[in-house]
Amino acid sequence: MTFDKLKIGQTVGIIGGGQLGKMMAQSAQKMGFRVVVLDPDETCPCRYVAHEFIHAAYDDMPALERLGEMSDVITYEFENIAAEQLQALVSTYNVPQSYQAIQLLQDRLTEKQTLANAGTKVVPFVQVTSEADLDEAVQTLGFPLMLKTRFGGYDGKGQIRLTSESQLDEARELIANQECVAEKFLDLAKEVSLTVTIGNDGQIVYFPLQENEHRNQVLFKTVVPARANHEEDARQEVDKITRAVHFVGTFTVEFFIDQQNELYVNEIAPRPHNSGHYSIEACDYSQFDTHILAVTGHRLPQQIELLKPAIMMNLLGKDLDLLENELFEHPEWHVHLYGKVSRKPERKMGHLTILTDDIATTEQQMVAKFEGRDECK
Ligand code: ADP
Ligand code: MG
Repeated sequence: MTFDKLKIGQTVGIIGGGQLGKMMAQSAQKMGFRVVVLDPDETCPCRYVAHEFIHAAYDDMPALERLGEMSDVITYEFENIAAEQLQALVSTYNVPQSYQAIQLLQDRLTEKQTLANAGTKVVPFVQVTSEADLDEAVQTLGFPLMLKTRFGGYDGKGQIRLTSESQLDEARELIANQECVAEKFLDLAKEVSLTVTIGNDGQIVYFPLQENEHRNQVLFKTVVPARANHEEDARQEVDKITRAVHFVGTFTVEFFIDQQNELYVNEIAPRPHNSGHYSIEACDYSQFDTHILAVTGHRLPQQIELLKPAIMMNLLGKDLDLLENELFEHPEWHVHLYGKVSRKPERKMGHLTILTDDIATTEQQMVAKFEGRDECK
């Protein structure tokens, strides 16, 4: 089925109304499109920046069809929607991203197999469904290793780092409930990510390489451009992936760099990504703008320009508690609050981006501030 480019006033339907859906909606509206969002949470961040809201579970097929009827194109903000439901929508409605990428990538096992088959370098892994598999993983990979559930994990959820035999009981408990993948634990020198957008016509544009620091497996900060000489290698790895998997729109590939300076593909997020948020202020197009251009069938810019080096800090609930009173005392902080009703210490409530020609100093100051250190109060 072929669909025309979206015209002004036509409607983008978004499955998922979290912060990613909200920022997608804001880009779509800037370009003159209407937005309808589907989410199970009546107070989700996207609700109040959408023209219409469908209150339903992600796998509620009649509600998804209603979204299809109301929309001229359907996109999604996260990969844990049911691929089957998405597949059912593809035959009737305009879903340029289709369902294959979601299907392959929402399962860590098929994701890693796809990456390996595409010829990218991945961390050695084995499938773990039984206690015997677990023993074998320990034999072949050694300690420390990461045990990750195949489905549903994000921000480090559904993962255990196993350092010794004493943790095997915990690991057995996890595999009794869910199928897993075990992966060698790398001594990381750095984490980087590359956000790209693929147009409806196959054109690919790359954002600059992003350098990420995670704390407790959740993104803490992103620095752009990354202080690593892997940009070209990362683009080549991304190109291998795009030859193997059909993508339209924005997606991000996360990489590890180990102590030997080797680059490994960690995982793919087939949607806009937290490490690309800086692009809203620091680039001439944001990752949300290019996503909307791609899924609505419009041309992408030839290349993305980084206007200034930038640092993006995530604002978790505990960071907001610490910094709430001074958030708007710093005009150089571009503050984004997602509008989530309930604040929890580890929940992503917002982020802030600072453009700076002196990344090292700004980074030092911001880290000290987020750590609540006195010299920065
Ligand atoms: P999620 O889907 O939760 O983002 P990831 O696989 O990206 O899952 O893991 C989250 C973070 O945990 C990574 O960004 C990294 O900091 C750490 N991590 C995960 N796997 C490994 C590994 N094999 N070696 C070292 N660190 C890892
Ligand atoms: Mg990750």
